[in-house]
Amino acid sequence: MNKIDDCIFCKIAAGKVGKLIYEDDEVAAFDDLNPQAPVHVLIVPKKHIARISDVMNDSDVCLMGKIVVAANKIAADRGISQDGYRLVINCNEGAGQSVWHVHFHLLGGRSLSWPPG
Ligand code: 5GP
Ligand code: ZN
Repeated sequence: MNKIDDCIFCKIAAGKVGKLIYEDDEVAAFDDLNPQAPVHVLIVPKKHIARISDVMNDSDVCLMGKIVVAANKIAADRGISQDGYRLVINCNEGAGQSVWHVHFHLLGGRSLSWPPG
């Protein structure tokens, strides 16, 4: 799956469906459809990358760093910076990946246990 027409997160990131809560030139974020915490935001590159293990070159590495910066901003906006938050990337089916466009889960607003299931 490589085309915007086939990928729901490409469509959301392009503003074609859903509602963005954050956007810059390269990154977009939106609330998860099925939230697992009071704050559950998905942060994605606008560029289609299927999975985090496909991140190989310096440009994509830099892009992932920009997602972390966006996540930090959103965490501050949502008031969860102080108490704490979690960034999660699931890679491939065994880890629970179900949408084939790289996304960082930003979770917070409640106590989060460890280890995750
Ligand atoms: P994964 O299981 O791939 O790590 O995470 C996929 C996440 O995307 C899930 O938490 C799921 O609830 C969310 N999701 C799937 N489809 C949509 C959608 O169309 N819109 C939004 N906002 N979230 C979605
Ligand atoms: Zn995509």
